Amino acid sequence: MYNETVMDHFTNPRNVGVLEDADVVAETSSPGCGDITKIYLKIRDNRIVDVKFQTLGCAAAIASSSMATELVKGKTLEEAWTLTRTDVADALGGLPEPKLHCSVLAEDAIRTAINQYRIDRGLAPW
Ligand SMILES: [Zn+2]
Repeated sequence: MYNETVMDHFTNPRNVGVLEDADVVAETSSPGCGDITKIYLKIRDNRIVDVKFQTLGCAAAIASSSMATELVKGKTLEEAWTLTRTDVADALGGLPEPKLHCSVLAEDAIRTAINQYRIDRGLAPW
């Protein structure tokens, strides 16, 4: 059902855990299958210098979160904001159609975190 890249990120996910000195934390859940993703971002000079995640969910949700954190690490907030579910799914070499909604979680969590960071600093959310 899953390709090698997805299985690799599922069995050996990158950036898993808690970021103790995170600047912002956001959690999103999928009403569809009950997946939950929590994202921690450390931001310096408008750039994501560190990121960690915790995902309670299916293989697609875990692999997508892992890939999404790899894609936004080191990026500016503007660059991270433009990350789409398609970018994540493409980077994973594709996801089975019924599992595409699971890749949305990571994108949502990252955007929620970025907006929370902006709100915390008195900026308008994007
Ligand atoms: Zn799922």
